[in-house]
Order: sequence, then C-alpha cells, then structure tokens
Amino acid sequence: MFSQRTLTDLDKKLLQEKFPTTYEEQLKKVENGYPIQYLLGDVPFFNVQIKVNENVLIPRFETEYLVEKILNRVETKQNLKCLDLCTGSGCIAIAMAKDTNFSCTGIDISTPALKVAKENAKLNNVVVEFKQLDILKEEIEEEYDIIVANPPYIGFQEPVDNSTRYEPQIALFAEENGLIFYRKILESIKNKPKLIAFEIGENEGIAIKNLAIQRFPNASISIEKDLAGKIRYLFIEPN
Ligand code: GLN
Repeated sequence: MFSQRTLTDLDKKLLQEKFPTTYEEQLKKVENGYPIQYLLGDVPFFNVQIKVNENVLIPRFETEYLVEKILNRVETKQNLKCLDLCTGSGCIAIAMAKDTNFSCTGIDISTPALKVAKENAKLNNVVVEFKQLDILKEEIEEEYDIIVANPPYIGFQEPVDNSTRYEPQIALFAEENGLIFYRKILESIKNKPKLIAFEIGENEGIAIKNLAIQRFPNASISIEKDLAGKIRYLFIEPN
C-alpha cells in the first residue's frame, strides 16, 4: 500500500510545467510526503489514464496487475457483466471496459469519488455505469459474471506508509481486521458469478478463503502473489 513513488526527473519536469510560478513550493510538499499524483492530477493505469484528487485512492501497481490477471482468466470478446465494488477513481472498471466487450458497473459509497470515476470514464472514452451504494448496509441487486473489488483492507491496528495519510482513510481501513468488506461482499452475492476477484492484504489469504468456502463450498480458489512476491490476490471460481 505505498502510494509514494520515487521522484524522477520527468516528475520534476511535469511539476514545473504544471506549476511554473509555484514550482519550488510544490516540490517541497512532495519532498515532505504529499503524493505527487494529486498535484499532477492523473496517473497511468494499465491501459487508461486516471484522473485523481484527494477524494480517491491513488491507483496502485498491484491493482494494475489484478486487472491483467482477471483479463487473462476470461474471454474478453464475450459481453460479460462486470461489477467493480469500492470503485473509487473507477480505475478497475474503466480499464476492464476499455479493450473488451464487457458491460461494467462501478459502485462506491463516496459521492465525490463517483464524480471522479464518471469523469474518468468520459476522459477514456468508455461507457461505465457508476452507482452510489453502501455495500456494508445494502445488497447487490443484479447478477454479474465477474465481480471484482479492491476494497479497504487494512486493519485499524496495522502500520501504514506515511504517504497514505493524504488519501481518503475510508478507502484504506476496514473493520474486522480489514476483512469486513470481503465478508459483506460474499454474503451479498446472489448468483454464481464466473469469477470473483479480490485484491487482498498479504496476511488475509486464509481468512478470506474460509469466508469464500462458506459461501461457495465447491469453488476453486486461488491465492496469488503480486510482483513483489507478496500475497495480494484471491480468485474465486464458484463452478
Ligand atoms: N478501486 C479503486 C482502486 O483500486 C479504489 C480502491 C479503494 O478505494 N479501496 O484503486
């Protein structure tokens, strides 16, 4: 969960272009830990460009890899119905809609985040439906082929990188030691989707696998690592 990236010469050049008169001041902010992504205003994400502000989590490399892994598991020419829960900036839903025939929906509790997500769909020329819903209190009404979520998954006790303090805290932290969203999402799914794909915390694999087995006893479940070699994904194929 690092959002901070090493400041490159290109970053400095972009910062200078964006803030010709206040460059030194902006650079100081970044050197003091403020995410440069919020200052520059957008980040590349997989196959799209995602606008960000303080109302949304900054998309992570790990999440790009989640999208890649999902697209490798399904037939992208099919018109599959996809749901991206805790969509935030919309990055997952938009990247999945971009070069596929999928119909994607993104859901989030945060109205200001959904505003960013809608702008992002437009900027990337994709059609994604965005809806406001509190998944901890409300049910998923429709049936989907693919359900994906990178929900808040850090327990309140866990240490985090300093740079995350500028990001929406509701996008990062979750009750039940970081597990509440996985439990609620699994309980809320009515049908048997082809695939459920979660980004997860590195110590959460077994606990989430157990939740998944309770809901889908015959599912194939695979716990996978990110490019840093840490457990980061859990895929459920209900069968
Ligand atoms: N889905 C968004 C992302 O992956 C937001 C995730 C979140 O806010 N927890 O970056």
